[in-house]
Amino acid sequence: MKALGLLSGGLDSTLALRLIHDQGIEVTALNFHTGFCFSDTRRATRRPDNSPEDEETPETGGPSDALTAAAKLGIPIEVIDISKGYLEVLHHPSYGYGKNVNPCVDCRIHMFKQARELMQEIGAEFIFTGEVLGQRPKSQHLQALHLIADQSGLTERLLRPLSALLLPPTLPEREGWIDRSKLMGFHGRTRKPQIALAGELGIGSYPQPAGGCCFLTDPQYGRKVRDMWEHGVKEEMEWEDYLLLKVGRHVRLSDNSKVVVGRDEGENLFIEQFPGEQIHLEVEEFPGPIAIFVGDASGEMLTKAARVVGRYSDGRDKGVDLTVTVKSKQTVRTIVVKPFTSEEVQNWVIS
Ligand code: SF4
Repeated sequence: MKALGLLSGGLDSTLALRLIHDQGIEVTALNFHTGFCFSDTRRATRRPDNSPEDEETPETGGPSDALTAAAKLGIPIEVIDISKGYLEVLHHPSYGYGKNVNPCVDCRIHMFKQARELMQEIGAEFIFTGEVLGQRPKSQHLQALHLIADQSGLTERLLRPLSALLLPPTLPEREGWIDRSKLMGFHGRTRKPQIALAGELGIGSYPQPAGGCCFLTDPQYGRKVRDMWEHGVKEEMEWEDYLLLKVGRHVRLSDNSKVVVGRDEGENLFIEQFPGEQIHLEVEEFPGPIAIFVGDASGEMLTKAARVVGRYSDGRDKGVDLTVTVKSKQTVRTIVVKPFTSEEVQNWVIS
């Protein structure tokens, strides 16, 4: 008997995997790449001087939580890239957004449809997840759990082992493939029962649950996305636009322009190497950030952007005008500007 278990690498999905695996089911883990995972971006903006020990964690460039968890459990894992088609889900969710710009219900339907295809491909009989009834207000209340099962086409072949005792028996339970009495009845946001179960099962280390793993649930990222949606055409936004929102300080200059200023060495490198026809700005005489200009590059807006970049450089309080290099693929020129003060810039920062 084969089953496919969705694995983020967090505590809940790891526990679900153990509960099913321990019942003698041949489990394959499945992890999704949405394009909005924190760990991917941390890897992309990793400081070049990270020590070799830092390589061991997802935050600093090591394997993802899911790969680590699967390796610890000795379970094979498939990673599916669902970023293709994902922007359509993000832009037009049938079931709306959560607290931020997270279209969790639509996202899970999108994921589970692809999981269903893989289930059929590998000859698995059912899919299970680490979802807990009532844990997330948007996507894990009773109605949402049923909706996701129905809309993904998985219906009775979708098992939630951590809350199974609070839900109607699914096909694997009714058919006796799974012993329902060994499943759990967890509910709500508390993690205490999961932590206790992890202790019982000897699962010693797991990523802390508070952080989450998805940019779309992050309030600050959500504000940057909404700012773009309000100042641009949502449907025209591409992956690169969303990628750039993950790094830097975003300072809106006008309705159709802004400047993105690196906050550390890793972000500066990321911004400097950002693909496409970009305009970069950097103060010449003093250490400071690298910035990228986005939008309508009129002379007035480039000067304003240069003054913003000056504000974040070490030359900001030297009482002198600063020379800022403005570099595009075709041209390199300089502008001499008086840096803005922090008070002048603060209301333009999208945070
Ligand atoms: S948090 Fe929501 S939007 Fe993000 S990956 Fe999970 S289900 Fe999808």
